[in-house]
Amino acid sequence: MVSKREHEGKKVFVCDICGFGYSDRSKAQSCEDYCAKYKSCSIEITKDAVYIPETRPIQ
Ligand SMILES: [Zn+2]
Repeated sequence: MVSKREHEGKKVFVCDICGFGYSDRSKAQSCEDYCAKYKSCSIEITKDAVYIPETRPIQ
């Protein structure tokens, strides 16, 4: 489930699985779909991330 957070005053949509944040919900949703399916992130998707977590649940 994509969650909405504030990061440095901006709204970000965060993939609940990997924790990467995106400026639009559909990106976050496609990240989460990818993460759920493959148990890892797609570089094609995460390159658009606006927020990168310091600790990642998926190694
Ligand atoms: Zn993800």
